Amino acid sequence: MFKIKLHWQILIALVLSVLFGFFFPQYIEYVSWLGDLFLRALKMIIVPLILTSIISGVSNIGDAQNLGKLGLKTILYYVSTSLAAILVGLTFVNILQPGVGADLNFNKNVSELGLVSDSLGNIILRMVPTNIFDALVSADMLAIIFFSILIGFFITKIADEYKNPLINLFNGGFELMMKLTSFIIKFTPLGIFGIVAVVVAENRASLPEIAGRLSIYMAAVLGGLLFHAFITLPLFLKFVGKVNPFAHAKAMSTPLLTAFSTSSSSATLPLTLNAVENNCGVSNKITSFILPLGATVNMDGTALYECVAAIFIAQAYGIELSMIQQAVVVFTALLASIGAAGIPMAGLVMITVILSAVGLPLEGVGLILAVDRILDMCRTTVNVWSDSCGAAIIAKTEGEQLLVNAS
Ligand code: ASP
Repeated sequence: MFKIKLHWQILIALVLSVLFGFFFPQYIEYVSWLGDLFLRALKMIIVPLILTSIISGVSNIGDAQNLGKLGLKTILYYVSTSLAAILVGLTFVNILQPGVGADLNFNKNVSELGLVSDSLGNIILRMVPTNIFDALVSADMLAIIFFSILIGFFITKIADEYKNPLINLFNGGFELMMKLTSFIIKFTPLGIFGIVAVVVAENRASLPEIAGRLSIYMAAVLGGLLFHAFITLPLFLKFVGKVNPFAHAKAMSTPLLTAFSTSSSSATLPLTLNAVENNCGVSNKITSFILPLGATVNMDGTALYECVAAIFIAQAYGIELSMIQQAVVVFTALLASIGAAGIPMAGLVMITVILSAVGLPLEGVGLILAVDRILDMCRTTVNVWSDSCGAAIIAKTEGEQLLVNAS
């Protein structure tokens, strides 16, 4: 039977949702439940998926030396690509100077965002949960990941009679969650239709005005994101991983479109895991370690965005940042992207970390609120793209044969 491929179904759903949201905003309540239902289903599987995938991944990696080597490569990849992204952002924002002469009357009240500046030490401290059940219940990703890595590692240290059934249990649990994921993925086009139609309907009236006032700022963020996604990361793929960037992008089309639509790396994670494993051919051992971690920690798009936004705000307030201050922005943008959760708008809230580090007014966030949603969609896509590139590159350096090898 003739069947349209999933990524085409999603693209069609995207186009239809934009048209629907734009022309029939009064009927939006009839379709919004589709998006809510889809997101609920994704969120339903996130915690058990992360838990089982990391525990099974780490316990299958086995000894401390292998784990250490893989961990080191992973961190090296995360930090180098995030820094590259930030530097691209820094260049774009310094060339385009979007904040110079920006309209400060545009300030909105930010108190309802509940902005609190998280100290850098706190971000690290938060990784260790005081109560793991609390962390599971509140879906505190960093804490769950940290705990799962420890469990996965120490399972390999106990006697065989306990170790084997436990490893089997978590491997089985992971298989089960992936089966469930494949089922939920089938509904992606419908879910995306619901989500995007609502976003378009809500922002419809203000779109032209917003685009007019903040267009240079948006151009700086989008230009940087495009550069990073289409030039920097493909170069990494091709030369470090010997992976064909086009084949890899094609293999990743479903999670990338989902990341764009949901603005959430975490919600997209089940689809990312599925695509990197089944379409790119990366082993479960590697995906189950790198992707859940990447969805929370490795956010190139967010890092770039943080840097551009902070400097835009400084420019708008007429504050000239010294070289040292710009270096502080780069460093804190990296930490903010690590600390940001993989959920919509997390990056916006994390900007307060940078603003307070360089002594800029927190109200500055009000300047960029209006266009955050659209930029969030784009930076989340880059976040997921970078995670998937990292998984492929690291798999290749570990000697795996992929389905997306460079020709
Ligand atoms: N929404 C982004 C993500 O999930 C995080 C951010 O707000 O920058 O990857």
